[in-house]
Order: sequence, then structure tokens, then C-alpha cells
Amino acid sequence: MSVALQCERLTAGYAGVPAVRDLSLSINEGEVVALLGPNGAGKTTTLLTLSGVLKPMAGEVSVCGATVRGGRPHLAARAGVAFVPDDRSLFYGLSVRQNLRLAVPRRDAEGTLKQVLDYFPALGEILDRRAGLLSGGEQQMLAVGRAMAMRPKVLMVDEMSLGLAPLIVQRMLPVVRRIASETGTAVLLVEQHVDLALDVADRALVLDRGHVVISGQATELREDRDLLAASYMGELAYDRLESEAEQPAGAGGGRSDA
Ligand code: ATP
Repeated sequence: MSVALQCERLTAGYAGVPAVRDLSLSINEGEVVALLGPNGAGKTTTLLTLSGVLKPMAGEVSVCGATVRGGRPHLAARAGVAFVPDDRSLFYGLSVRQNLRLAVPRRDAEGTLKQVLDYFPALGEILDRRAGLLSGGEQQMLAVGRAMAMRPKVLMVDEMSLGLAPLIVQRMLPVVRRIASETGTAVLLVEQHVDLALDVADRALVLDRGHVVISGQATELREDRDLLAASYMGELAYDRLESEAEQPAGAGGGRSDA
């Protein structure tokens, strides 16, 4: 199984202030990794940096072994990164079909449309409806469908569940799992429904205050709800910040095993 996405000691933030520090992560082809954590933990910042929107303050990102220069989202896209932001960023005045067509070269259009409809059959019934008139769930299907139409090597989805009923999320997450397993796409998923995310993920990382405070196999983390709850209460981040303050610079520390 080869590595699709890798970053080493990534530090990123805004106006010189880090929001994510020293993040190292590697995702294999076909693997689903959930990025979890409380509000303001640095999850969106991580996705923005990995997708080339934000330039890292330190560290490197590579896609299938090729280094992707930070701050150049088109280069990340060309290297095979597709990013679904939490606002979905659709063309709301265009139809479902037109939104999907824009994502793929004309010669691949029919085959790709068929593949997207295989994963999201509900879109087949609304191909000529304007994206702005769709329900939240339909828009999210279109956003993920459009991203997969680009045949990415790495698919990143930020807060798929934002504004959606849990039942819809429960139906959509297994589809994302299927996309990863059947197409070999590596998936990085930011999700607030922790249990649902752990049901479909292979591995998970929990971020708090910009640090990875937990990482491990999804099956193990499902068993360790106390540890997960502590991370959401910020207790693990406090432990880490305190131990860093006590140790000399560069000595490390924390509970992450990644
Ligand atoms: P949420 O689930 O609330 O979106 P998150 O884990 O995705 O949380 P980020 O959005 O990555 O967290 O934010 C991490 C930190 O960076 C927060 O302290 C946030 O206030 C700050 N931040 C986010 N965007 C900006 C920005 N454009 N300018 C300055 N600071 C920002």
C-alpha cells in the first residue's frame, strides 16, 4: 500500500501565529483518516494547509511522493488533492450536471458522471436542478461527487455534517468509505460526529490547540471514550502544554503515538 499524502512537522497559522504545530501525518491509498477535535483546535487550518491554500510556516507536504509547494492550491489540485470546504463552494446558479461537468475534462464526462451517480444515485434525479435549490444533503452529495469526479489521489472533506441531520450524515459517511476502498483514494475527514466518523475511519487523530493529543486505530479509539472525552474537554492539551513548559526546548512530550 503506497503513501498518498504525507506531511512532516507541519506548522501553520495566520499572521505569523501558529494554529497547528509540528503535525506529522501519513495517509495510504484507500485509507480513511478522521481528524477530530474541539472548536478552534486547528482542523480547518490543517486541511487548508494540506490543500495548498495556506502556506505552511514550517514543514513539508507531499502527494504520492511529490512535494507540493504551500500557498499554491492549483498545484496541490494538479498533484491530486481535492478539497471540499465546509461551505461546499458549489456554483449555486448552475445545475447539478453543470457543476459536475466543470470538474472533469470533456472526454471523460460521461464515464465520470456514471461513476458519481453510482455513489450518489439521488443526484441522478436532480441533474437539471440548480445547485442553489438543493437541500443541504443534496448539496453535500454534489460537493463530494464533484470532488471525486476529479479522480483525486487525496480527498479532504471539512465538516461534511455541518447543517445536516445526523441521519443524512449516517448515510453519507459510508459512501465516502466506499469511495476510498473502491477507488484507492486517500481520505482525510474533519467531522464533528465522532462516533460516526470512527465507524468509517481506519485511523483518527485528535487535535487540540494545534497539537495532536491522540492518534490511533479507529477501532481502539472507539473503545477508549474516556480518553476521547478528555481530549474534547481540553485536558490532554493542558497536560501537553504544561509538560512542554517544564521541558527544555525540543524535548517533545504528549500522549500522541503517531
Ligand atoms: P472549528 O471546528 O471551530 O472550525 P477548527 O478545529 O477547524 O475549529 P481552525 O478553524 O483551524 O479550528 O482554527 C484554529 C485557530 O486559528 C483558532 O484559534 C482560530 O481562531 C484561528 N483562526 C482560524 N482562521 C483564522 C483566520 N483567518 N485568521 C486568524 N486566525 C484564524
